[in-house]
Amino acid sequence: MTTVLTPASPLTAADRCDRCGAQAYLRVVLTSGGELLFCAHHGRKFEPELKKIAAEIQDETDRLTAVPASTGEDER
Ligand SMILES: [Zn+2]
Repeated sequence: MTTVLTPASPLTAADRCDRCGAQAYLRVVLTSGGELLFCAHHGRKFEPELKKIAAEIQDETDRLTAVPASTGEDER
């Protein structure tokens, strides 16, 4: 996991989990050249598998816990 092919762009609200369609917080670049997107839930679920096939994993799940308290909602 030391090879960085290209500078990764941040994930946006338009990036959706390949499994459930929720907003994606992980981008997985495969050694085969493909790319997968996962929400935090599925990212965690498939992490052991992904690590076997990924050239790079961009993990932005930190953003889930770093949400500004602007709405007052305590959503998880
Ligand atoms: Zn998902």
